[in-house]
Amino acid sequence: MAKEECIFCKIVKGEIPAERVYEDDNFIGILDINPEMEGHTLIIPKKHFKTILDTPNSLGNEFLEAIKNVAMKLIKDKKADGFNIIFNVNKIAGQEVDHVHCHIIPRKENDGMKLKMINGLRDKKKK
Ligand code: AMP
Repeated sequence: MAKEECIFCKIVKGEIPAERVYEDDNFIGILDINPEMEGHTLIIPKKHFKTILDTPNSLGNEFLEAIKNVAMKLIKDKKADGFNIIFNVNKIAGQEVDHVHCHIIPRKENDGMKLKMINGLRDKKKK
């Protein structure tokens, strides 16, 4: 997909509205339009890279910092007890938007969310 057509590039440029909850020099954080949980946030680099594999290592520290800042804010504002922090890489793994982004999904006791992989691992551990 050409950068000009990329929905996250358009959000970065302010051409499409989104609820920005975080911004620094190289990243924005927006609320996911179709959240798994209240507060589900996407961290998106302002520059277009397709996946985490295409993203320069030099952005690594700032990416981590953005993730941690948003997570701390969700602990404070949404009383989150934990998180699932997910990068979907390529279509086969569920990546729908070809502009790298990290999902931060806040979790609470008995929130009812089921992630197949994580629940599967928990089940195995119990045996
Ligand atoms: P992924 O499947 O990892 O590519 O995730 C893409 C995410 O972007 C999905 O969770 C969508 O709900 C979300 N999304 C798509 N369009 C928008 C938008 N305009 N504003 C906010 N979130 C969006």
